[in-house]
Amino acid sequence: MLRASLEDAAVQNNPHTTLITATAPVSPDTHGGRTKCLQRLVRLDLPVPRTVGLSFDAVHRIARGEMPDMALLLSPFEQGELLCVRPSSGDPDWGGPSAILNIGMNNARFDDFAQRLGNETAASLYARFVHSYSLRVARLDPDVFDEIGVEGEASLNAALRAYEEETDEPFPQDPAVQLAEVLRSMARAWDGTSARLLRQGKGAPADAGLGLVVQSMALGFGEGECGSGVLQLIDRETGLEQLTGRYLSQSQGRDALEGGSKALFLERDARGPSLEELAPDAFRSLIEIAQLMRLKLREEMQVEFVIENGRVHILDGVRVSRTSRAAVRSVVRLAEDKIITRQEALLRVPPSALNELLHRQVDRSVSNDLIGRGVAASPGAATGKVVFTAADAQAAAARGESCVLVRRETSPEDIRGMHAAKAVLTERGGMTSHAAVIGRGIGLPCVVGATEMRFQMRKKLLTVSDGRTFKEGDVITVDGTHGEVLSGSVPMLEATLDDAFQTLLSWADDERDIGIRANADTPADAQTAKMFLAQGIGLCRTEHMFFEDDRLTVMREMIFAESSEDRSAALKRLLPVQRADFTELFRTMAGLPVCLRLLDPPLHEFLPSDHAGHRALAEALDIPLSDVTRRVEALSEYNPMLGMRGVRLGIKVPEIYDMQVRAIFEAAISVTTPEMPIVPEIMIPLVSAKREVELVKMRVDIVAAAVRAETGVDFDYKLGVMVETPRAALRAEDIAESTSFLSFGTNDLTQMTYGLSRDDAGRFMSEYVAQGVFAEDPFHTLDVDGVGELLILGAKRGRMARPGLTLSMCGEHGGNPESIAFCRAAGFDYVSCSPFRVPVARLAAAQLAI
Ligand code: PEP
Ligand code: MG
Repeated sequence: MLRASLEDAAVQNNPHTTLITATAPVSPDTHGGRTKCLQRLVRLDLPVPRTVGLSFDAVHRIARGEMPDMALLLSPFEQGELLCVRPSSGDPDWGGPSAILNIGMNNARFDDFAQRLGNETAASLYARFVHSYSLRVARLDPDVFDEIGVEGEASLNAALRAYEEETDEPFPQDPAVQLAEVLRSMARAWDGTSARLLRQGKGAPADAGLGLVVQSMALGFGEGECGSGVLQLIDRETGLEQLTGRYLSQSQGRDALEGGSKALFLERDARGPSLEELAPDAFRSLIEIAQLMRLKLREEMQVEFVIENGRVHILDGVRVSRTSRAAVRSVVRLAEDKIITRQEALLRVPPSALNELLHRQVDRSVSNDLIGRGVAASPGAATGKVVFTAADAQAAAARGESCVLVRRETSPEDIRGMHAAKAVLTERGGMTSHAAVIGRGIGLPCVVGATEMRFQMRKKLLTVSDGRTFKEGDVITVDGTHGEVLSGSVPMLEATLDDAFQTLLSWADDERDIGIRANADTPADAQTAKMFLAQGIGLCRTEHMFFEDDRLTVMREMIFAESSEDRSAALKRLLPVQRADFTELFRTMAGLPVCLRLLDPPLHEFLPSDHAGHRALAEALDIPLSDVTRRVEALSEYNPMLGMRGVRLGIKVPEIYDMQVRAIFEAAISVTTPEMPIVPEIMIPLVSAKREVELVKMRVDIVAAAVRAETGVDFDYKLGVMVETPRAALRAEDIAESTSFLSFGTNDLTQMTYGLSRDDAGRFMSEYVAQGVFAEDPFHTLDVDGVGELLILGAKRGRMARPGLTLSMCGEHGGNPESIAFCRAAGFDYVSCSPFRVPVARLAAAQLAI
């Protein structure tokens, strides 16, 4: 006894191989999460079998061939008892080699166990060990052992024979040698290239360490009620309170989980009695233990246990592996039960996890037929019949059929088709291409830049890399969360905006200190933004309103007008339409700020691009086809993104902005009440010079004066500038003089800073990222070093001219947690993002403020 405790003391005093007691010096950073958790269970006085923890450092040395003193390592354990070794990494998600059980089993011990438990059980224990040792330690051919099985004496003899034949050596009999070899193989497995890449993919640092625990085996076999299982207090899918688990009599390890219909648990059914009936005391004590673990470990835990003749052993506790939906509900319940604080609850949910709640998702637990990949441009998944034109998408929707719109790339003309489709797939484009921006805006699953698929638009065929073709009407699924295209329809998980989600986000709003607005173009978008509690609209791309209903024809008439009178006539027809849109936006947002951007795209985007479209337009406008083609050609530009668009168009054809501004003012007046005064924000796109702002401001002031005079109503408005060109950022000081806000449009700003077309980036972006030219796609993750420098410079210079200047970001980066952190640090007032990103942004912003 004295000797044993001296040896215990020696193990305890060794920082690298430590007997896990309440006071042993272990931490998650030196020994891994499992070891630390076991210590917490020991501190709670739970019946945990004796355990020795090996530190990251010890395991690292083992991998290099420096073995610890094996006699010392084994000293805390009883002579003749079996051991198991389990991994203990910094984060359970990083994986690690799987556990090896029944170490110490050999011919002599087999006889002892046979006497106690019978031949068959003893043989099964031994056979399981020989099996895992052969495959995982000696690395023998799995085919040989797969045929042998692990139950009973015949399997044991066959396994021992196979080991000997394959290695020309008898199976090792010395428990110390067995243990040393197990430790060595697990340590080396962690260092292997594929294991390293796998865990780095899950966010592990390059030097992530592995700890190991050596634990005495609680067997789960023998007289009385014996067995093993797992138990948890919540349902892993929903997070709702529900006792769940599996138990299998006369079993060990993962038997209960893999035991199929043999495993049972709570209720008695055709399979036999429940654990509650078999071992009522053990069952009750397990529930108490699970509740205690929830309270003290401050987490929903899965309890791994063994019952030996009715006595409970707790082998381990791990956080319940769960869906994002269950994660949100469980942290909210923990905070409501005052086990954790609201702040901790907020910090425990990764913002991106909310995407799983906001959109339908492919059930990835089921295997699917992957036919292509691209950029995951807009999250969520949908199934439908392939259509190749926007018109076909609308026709399918009219027939009540779900369809997936497949295009080389989309343009504003496709908007109605996109609204009609359930998902969009494009060959070209990146994170800020048209399809991606619209997809995220309206919550439509979208994969873009699927360059490995062949898009034959005329033949209406989609050919995938293995040669299969999908024609119009064939069913595919677009998984916009993972950037995957699947053949046929697949099982889905539904979106769930439940009460726990709402509660968590209301806590987030209490914490955060940066505003979150939404980019919303239409009243429907504004409804979504309002539903997700955006604090206003930070960007309304007003041009998107022109693609609805019959407005496009009037817009085209305006573009084709030869004289100023004809143009004003067309604009007069557009005015009430725009006014109605703005009125509805102001009403929907009920007094929250609404920032309306004046027309931005080049005019040719409003014109048809093919012959049939030209002919239809000639008919609609009652002019010769040759006139249409002549005007289309005249308007086309070599590089339209850098051509006559944005404020340049506003200055060249000022009547368009005049009409838009008038519509904004008249709408604001019609919605304003003394309780809810509307102060519209008008934003000028693509500015690069102070004079541009002055010219537009002059005309806006004239229109305001005219509307005031006509209506006799006074009103306020704010005029701001979108910083989308590097020059606007550099000259922010003088540009800010005549504006009340600057909003950084990081899509164009990234495009222009890199000199990289946002619609063509998809062609080589993955290659660039793979080769490390860019750390990330800069259209997806804000380029802090380059574009970020312009943001900081622009913000600083703008505020030099006007200290109270409102600053914001409204590019697609606005919803990313990293960009929000950047904007917050730079003193921005708000970020604006797609409506469906608003919840993610609210949570991310709260985490930054905690
Ligand atoms: C931008 O350029 O960042 C922006 C928000 O405008 P758009 O995407 O409409 O060009
Ligand atoms: Mg822009």
